[in-house]
Amino acid sequence: MTSRSTESRRSMNRRSFFLGGGAAAGTLGAGALTGQLLPARARGADAPPVDPAELLKAQTQRALRWAGRPAGDWVKPRAGVDQNVVVVGGGQSGLAIAYGLRRKGIGRVTVIDRCEPGQAGIWRNIARMHQLRTPKTIPGPELGNPDLGFRAWFETLNGPAAFDALDRIPRLAWADYLAWYEQVTEAGVRYDTRLVGIEPAGDFLRLHLESDGMQRTETTRKLVLANGFKGAGGVSVPSVLRGLPAGLWSHTDAPFEFTRLAGKVVGIIGAGASAFDAAATALEQGAKEVHLYSRRSYIDYPSSSASTPPPPPGPPGDRGHAFVLELAGELPDEVRWRDWRVRENASASVPLDSLARAVAAKNFHLHLDSDWTGATAGGGGITARISGKKQRFDHVIAGTGYRVDLSVQPELASIQPDIALWKDRYRPPVGEQDDAVSLYPYLGAGFQFQPKADAGVTHLRNIHCFNIAASASFGTLVGDIPSVPQQARLVTAIARDFLLEDLDLAQNRRYAETPFVPRSPAPYQSALGPR
Ligand SMILES: Cc1cc2nc3c(=O)[nH]c(=O)nc-3n(C[C@H](O)[C@H](O)[C@H](O)COP(=O)(O)OP(=O)(O)OC[C@H]3O[C@@H](n4cnc5c(N)ncnc54)[C@H](O)[C@@H]3O)c2cc1C
Repeated sequence: MTSRSTESRRSMNRRSFFLGGGAAAGTLGAGALTGQLLPARARGADAPPVDPAELLKAQTQRALRWAGRPAGDWVKPRAGVDQNVVVVGGGQSGLAIAYGLRRKGIGRVTVIDRCEPGQAGIWRNIARMHQLRTPKTIPGPELGNPDLGFRAWFETLNGPAAFDALDRIPRLAWADYLAWYEQVTEAGVRYDTRLVGIEPAGDFLRLHLESDGMQRTETTRKLVLANGFKGAGGVSVPSVLRGLPAGLWSHTDAPFEFTRLAGKVVGIIGAGASAFDAAATALEQGAKEVHLYSRRSYIDYPSSSASTPPPPPGPPGDRGHAFVLELAGELPDEVRWRDWRVRENASASVPLDSLARAVAAKNFHLHLDSDWTGATAGGGGITARISGKKQRFDHVIAGTGYRVDLSVQPELASIQPDIALWKDRYRPPVGEQDDAVSLYPYLGAGFQFQPKADAGVTHLRNIHCFNIAASASFGTLVGDIPSVPQQARLVTAIARDFLLEDLDLAQNRRYAETPFVPRSPAPYQSALGPR
């Protein structure tokens, strides 16, 4: 299939190729380049004297050369199969998984994304913070090769001092870095291509895809769902807003033209980082008043600067396995359940800079201990009943996050009744029940769906779920940067399945039984016998 990404790559010049995103998308304004190549005065005094783009290009080529060529495709072709693996989602997770599969020697891997080139993930559309919420030094999609990491990319373009000067990673710099990573790892994402349905086809999966308004099917042996926080049930909408006219309210997850809020009174439900970022954006775009409501009596925020990871604890302070996160999936059901239940019900931690950005405005009002019990539309706005009082807004924003409920995820409609959920596999003790956690899928060690019953639905094991729904099984928010290195577990599981499914015992026996024929003694002939 010819894709737009192929076309855009074809038309890209070499310099922009090695710089990353702005050029990849071909449509991004100068603002989008923030953090990519800083102006000379902002680059560190120790910035390299040569053209940084050329330096990055040479360094990356060398790193890829030193990493060695990926193994050739060892997966046996199967009749009637278009792909070995289809990865849904060209965000950081999907890109890292595709690269991991390639390094493992698994060919015929394709990544699809429903969005336009340059818009994959959240970074250029619905994320509104100035800088990432995670520390700038945590490992991510580089898969252990530091030359493919954010730091190498940023420092090579801007100098080590510029990196040192960062508090955390600028959001758009992260977007540019991912676009560069996509190019150098040759992910070949097929944009404008949406997965709309999945059906079993014997040992394989038939995928229903929509591309440029056309429907088509493609058959694959494996499917990876790397479709993000929204990919396992969508956004969580407060019941008071459901049913109100769409134009009067929005969710922080939706792209939204905040200039529309100039001169308006805005209400925000929820007190997580995205809610504060939306409040600040609305205020910066001229909102008359912004009121943010939390049901809790406090706002949580990190105790130390988020720019550096916390020091190693004395005895472990939290769940006891913070430094071996990759092993959280090995913990007993009881521990995984309890940990995720705590996490689900914990208040969101808001970075101090996000908090300060909103609080700085005089027309920002924070309301704690506030419960929205009703809302009606009228007169071009919404009148809400909040803790017994009435308040009118021109627009309301739900900053209420995401939910996991596979039964409402359209592309899973025909297969989800057979997927084992936590409620099918684990019965929590009295006092530890949790309706939200019970709806998470109970995944296998390689992120595979498990069938509720063993008979007849083995195809589910060929669907690997690397999105928010995997979080309860793996004890980490799957999709965020710290979870990306866990792709190794998924990649190994896929490779294992291919190896075992394709094992030809007769061929293996023939190999073992082939008599050994010694080579010619010519190279050592002269040393034989008396000399
Ligand atoms: C506002 C916000 C801020 C965040 N900040 C941070 C942070 O600072 N640090 C951190 O570690 N984490 C952060 N996260 C969490 C996480 O890192 C991001 O959500 C990240 O984008 C997840 O990457 P991903 O590749 O798993 O999914 P996404 O980036 O969401 O990418 C999923 C892709 O799948 C595509 N897709 C979805 N459905 C289909 C379909 N049916 N067919 C084809 N394509 C499809 C989408 O178009 C999208 O491009 C943040 C999350 C949010 C929402």
